[in-house]
Amino acid sequence: MRDFLALTLRAETPRCTEGETASFRWRWLEEGVLTLEPREPVDQALVLSAGIHGNETAPVELLDALMGKLFRGDIRLQWRLLVILGNPAALRADRRFIDYDINRLFSGRWQAATPGVESARAGRLEAQVSAFFSAGQETTRWHLDMHTAIRGSLYPRFGVLPARTQPWDEGFLHWLGSAGLEAIVFHQAPGGTFTHYTGDRCAALSCTLELGKAQPFGANDLSQFAAAGQALAALLDGAPLPAIAAPPRRYRVVGQITRHSEAFTLHMPASTLNFTPFPQGTLLAEDGETRYTVAHEVERVLFPNPGVAPGLRAGLMLVEIA
Ligand code: ZN
Repeated sequence: MRDFLALTLRAETPRCTEGETASFRWRWLEEGVLTLEPREPVDQALVLSAGIHGNETAPVELLDALMGKLFRGDIRLQWRLLVILGNPAALRADRRFIDYDINRLFSGRWQAATPGVESARAGRLEAQVSAFFSAGQETTRWHLDMHTAIRGSLYPRFGVLPARTQPWDEGFLHWLGSAGLEAIVFHQAPGGTFTHYTGDRCAALSCTLELGKAQPFGANDLSQFAAAGQALAALLDGAPLPAIAAPPRRYRVVGQITRHSEAFTLHMPASTLNFTPFPQGTLLAEDGETRYTVAHEVERVLFPNPGVAPGLRAGLMLVEIA
């Protein structure tokens, strides 16, 4: 199963769907879904996913390199592990998605969508991660969903944490810093993301990692992903984590700019970087009578996108947590 990625990109079913190495047993569950179980009992379970968006290839290559290390025995696995290539059809097409953005369809939202490639896949992935976590008694459950951002960012590497009623585990947040994240964003409301599903339904500590800028397969500068690769390798085999240069800055979501109608105007250029700050009183968007003005001393924008369909999010506004 060393060629899990290549096999998935060729849309092939492996001749052999299970096997073992010196330290773990593996099983291919369905297209793009593989589980690895250490021979010795462990008390931690991890879902590692990439390629939820088919054009975000660098984290897929990172995951492929980690799988190579696991199967060669360079990493001695200390977690029960579920590896997911999120959207194989979109990966093969080198497109963000085929029918819909799958990362808005989780937590059952796929059931209300017109049937398509991603609505079916979201339903399958929910079933796979739920079955994976409920198959064990582990007290530590993590889900790391790796992406690359479309636009430039003042912090090229950052994490987005789903809304959570319980406090976050500082060890989890520390690992995010060791993976090279420069900023962490705390969502305050439920969403249709894969990480919201695993956090909410599977009681996992979950994070969407934005690890740099999206490039086609083979054109990725993997050096910018080195910190994440080292932190993942250390995590998987229980080695000391890489040192953190500076702890990530922390931001909480304080507002959402929503496009309601065709009259919508976003008052920032299409090239606006993620985390760009705006001072209090700045008019950021207008939509008929509705206006979005900066209410806090400073607010920063995340994922600005004036081109979304009416009813969808055109940007998130953030405030730094002291
Ligand atoms: Zn993505």
